[in-house]
Amino acid sequence: MPRLHPTSCTRRHFLKSISTICACASAPALLLENSPALASGTPDPDFEPAYLALHRTGELAQRAESLWNTMESCQLCPRQCEVNRLQGRSGFCQAPGARLVVSSFHPHFGEERPLVGRKGSGTIFFSHCNLRCVFCQNWEISLKGRGQEQSIDDLAAMMLRLQELGCHNLNFVTPTHYSAHILKALDKAAGQGLRLPIVYNTSGWERLEIITQLDGIVDIYLPDFKFWEGEMAAKFSSGAESYPELTRKAILDMHHQVGIAEPGGDGVLQRGLIIRHLVMPNNTAGSEKILQWIAEHLPKETYINIMAQFTPAFKAFDFPKIARRITSDEYARVVAKAEQLGLTNLDIRGHWWLRR
Ligand code: SF4
Repeated sequence: MPRLHPTSCTRRHFLKSISTICACASAPALLLENSPALASGTPDPDFEPAYLALHRTGELAQRAESLWNTMESCQLCPRQCEVNRLQGRSGFCQAPGARLVVSSFHPHFGEERPLVGRKGSGTIFFSHCNLRCVFCQNWEISLKGRGQEQSIDDLAAMMLRLQELGCHNLNFVTPTHYSAHILKALDKAAGQGLRLPIVYNTSGWERLEIITQLDGIVDIYLPDFKFWEGEMAAKFSSGAESYPELTRKAILDMHHQVGIAEPGGDGVLQRGLIIRHLVMPNNTAGSEKILQWIAEHLPKETYINIMAQFTPAFKAFDFPKIARRITSDEYARVVAKAEQLGLTNLDIRGHWWLRR
């Protein structure tokens, strides 16, 4: 059995490890609950997640229904396939109609420190993806759809289980094509005592119309900002040329909804925006321009995770421009630019990753 290193493993390594331990959704939590790091915890009594107020008024259920109905001619994401998922049709993301597929759920210790705290981020990995990047490290989950079909009740039970295990938040990974399912399950779980903040962990490529429906529901937004140029997004993310433009709009709205990420005294975050940027070889991502835009349009103290762990995976070796890891110099240049722009809240653990 592979050894997990709770504070330093990357998502890829964590997924690889966990997938070899267990193929079913419930076992990882069962496996990890005896870890000493997971002494049972209770949610902070002084904190109320955003969605509880909307749950009490019935609006959370209404918004869930509205997103659900969107699947009748699906426009949950910028692909806008307009297939009838309610009748079992699949669009670009390959989600099987309106059925829900979850790859795994468990406390995760490889996310940003303010999300992990001492007891982990309660991560739920959804299968399938609407972006389908050629370099995806989790392609077996996102492209092949590895996972198990679950009901809305199952999803609500997972949320409550992660709370029981003491996780600091619920972290929905690749949620976009299942946003309706998530809201329905959230409404159920809220009625059964759920009170963890939720993390919307997205590629960033979102329709503004959908993000505005999450206002007052999501506590922490965790979007990627992958590419500055539409041409690069189109080439490496299955024709998603609108990625830069739509991601900029989505990130501005996310910031408007939840503000700056300011962890509490215990270092754990309950509300705010964290932007992830993965530095790619040969400046494929346009890192410096992305940082410049952030510096000009968002507060300088915006939390930015500058990630170094790009590794050629899946079809990346078919593209010479991205067929290698980045160098220390490439990473250092991006960090220097961020500092030069006056950005003050940088997560730059990539320096450590590149030294491994
Ligand atoms: S969520 Fe899936 S089916 Fe719906 S628009 Fe996006 S890619 Fe198409």
